[in-house]
Amino acid sequence: MTGNLEGEKRMTADYTEFRGSVRGETLEPGDAGYHEARKLYNGMIDKKPALIARCVDVADVMTCVNYARDNGILLAVRGGGHNGPGLGSCDGGLVIDLSRMKGVRVDPAVRTADVAGGCLWGDVDHATHAFGMAVPAGIVSTTGVGGLTLGGGIGHLSRKCGLTIDNLLAVDMVLADGRFVTANDEQHQDLYWAVRGGGGNFGVVTNFRFRLHPVGMVSAGPMFWAMEDAPEVMRRYEEFIGDAPEELNGFFAFLVVPPVPLFPEALHMRTVCGVVWCSTADQERTSQMLEPTARWPKPLLSGVGPMPLPVLNSLFDGLFQPGLQWYWKADFVDHLTDESIARHVKFGSNLPTMFSTMHLYPINGAVHRVGVNATAFSYRKAKWAEVIVGVDPDAANAGKITEWAKSYWDAVHPYSAPGAYVNFMMEEGSARVEATYGENYTRLQQVKAKYDPQNLFRVNQNIPPSGK
Ligand SMILES: Cc1cc2nc3c(=O)[nH]c(=O)nc-3n(C[C@H](O)[C@H](O)[C@H](O)COP(=O)(O)OP(=O)(O)OC[C@H]3O[C@@H](n4cnc5c(N)ncnc54)[C@H](O)[C@@H]3O)c2cc1C
Repeated sequence: MTGNLEGEKRMTADYTEFRGSVRGETLEPGDAGYHEARKLYNGMIDKKPALIARCVDVADVMTCVNYARDNGILLAVRGGGHNGPGLGSCDGGLVIDLSRMKGVRVDPAVRTADVAGGCLWGDVDHATHAFGMAVPAGIVSTTGVGGLTLGGGIGHLSRKCGLTIDNLLAVDMVLADGRFVTANDEQHQDLYWAVRGGGGNFGVVTNFRFRLHPVGMVSAGPMFWAMEDAPEVMRRYEEFIGDAPEELNGFFAFLVVPPVPLFPEALHMRTVCGVVWCSTADQERTSQMLEPTARWPKPLLSGVGPMPLPVLNSLFDGLFQPGLQWYWKADFVDHLTDESIARHVKFGSNLPTMFSTMHLYPINGAVHRVGVNATAFSYRKAKWAEVIVGVDPDAANAGKITEWAKSYWDAVHPYSAPGAYVNFMMEEGSARVEATYGENYTRLQQVKAKYDPQNLFRVNQNIPPSGK
C-alpha cells in the first residue's frame, strides 16, 4: 500500500518536471479540459491517456519523443483525431497532440504549400484557394492532414492529380531517436518513400510540403437514382469510370437522403444510390463529359453545378459532426461483377441508420500512373477504394451499425483484393496490414528497423521492424 502511494507520488513528480519542459499546454486526468482534449472524432472510441501534450513547436515534439522513449512510455501521435479505430490516442500513455501546430505557407511562384503537422484540410483549402490552387485531399474538411496524407489520401481530385502522397514533395520529421530530419527526393529517400503510404510508423511529421494544382472552381454535385435502378447504375458506372476523362471524378454511394433544404422534400429520408461528381473543367465541358449518363436510368436528382473546391470539400462536414459512433470496413476493388453488385444492392438497400453509407472511390487515372513500388502505397492497380461505414449519433446503435458493416463486408470481400486502404480500416491485425502493403511490406519493415528499431511509434496500423 505504502509502496503504491510512493510510486504514485514519484509519477506525479516526474510528470511535473516533464510538464515544465513543454512550452505547450499539458493535461493529465483531473486537469480542467482533460476530458475535452482526449475526445476523438469517433465517439465509439474512449481512450484515457496518462498525459496529453499540446505541442506548439518542433522542440516540444522532440521533448515528448525523447521522454516517452527514455521512460518506456506508450506514445501516440494525434493529427486531426479522425482515425476510425482512434489511433491518434492511447490508454495510459503520452499523446503528442499536434492541434496547436498550425500554419500554411503558400509559395505561388513555385506552386508549393508548406503545411504544419497539426493542420486540418479546411486550413489548407482556405489558404490555397485564395491563390486559385489546391492540394488533392479528402472529402471532409475537418480531417487531419497528418493521418490522411501518411496513409495515402483519396478524394475528389484523385483521378486528375493523384493521391495526396503523389503531391507530397518533402516532410520534416522528428524520429524515434529525437533527431529532426527532412526527407525528400534527395535526403533520406528511404524515409520519403515509406511515409508516402506507410502511416505514422516512422516518426512525427511536423511539416508537409505539397505541390499545388491550379484548381479553384469545380463543377460538382450529386446525381441520385432509385434503388430499383441500382444494379444497372452500378454496371454503367463501372464501364464509364474506367476510361472517363481524368478531369472528371465520381464516387459511387448508397445513402439515405438527409432531410435538409439542399434536397427536395420528396427525397428526404429515401434510400438511394448516387454518384458525387467533381470536374475541374468548366460547366460546358463537364456536361459533355457527363453526356453518356443520359443513357443511364433516369436520375431522381441531378445537381451538378459550379462551386469553389473548398465548398465541395466541406459539403459533408455538417452531416458528419465529431462524436458520432463509427464502425468501418474496407477493401480495394478491381471490378464489379453481377454477383458482387447483387450483394452490394442487398446491403445498400438496408442501410441501418440515416448516416450509414458505402462509398466506392475511384483510384484510377493519375493514381495508376505511379508505380506500385514508387511509394509505400501498393494498390496502384485497383479501380476503387471501397469503404462501408456504419454511423449513428446514438451509442445504443453501436452494435447495430457494427453488425451491418461486418456482414456487408463479409458478403462482398470475396469479390475484393486482399488488402484495404489503411485509413479506412479498424484495428484488424497484422495479417491485414501485411496484405495491404503487399510487395512493399518487407521494404517497409526494413525502413522501420532503420528509423524506429524499438517500435516507439506503434499506435498506428503497425509495421513492426524487420527482425522483430
Ligand atoms: C468523416 C471522415 C471523412 C474521411 N474522408 C476521407 C477521404 O475523403 N479520403 C481519405 O483518404 N481519407 C478519409 N478519411 C480517413 C482519414 O484519412 C483517416 O481517418 C486518417 O487517419 C485521419 O487522419 P487524422 O490526422 O485526422 O487522424 P489521427 O487520428 O489524428 O491520426 C491517424 C493516424 O495518423 C498518425 N498521424 C497523424 N498525424 C501525424 C503526424 N503529423 N505525424 C505522424 N503521424 C501522424 C497518428 O499517429 C495515427 O496513427 C476520413 C475520415 C473521416 C472520419
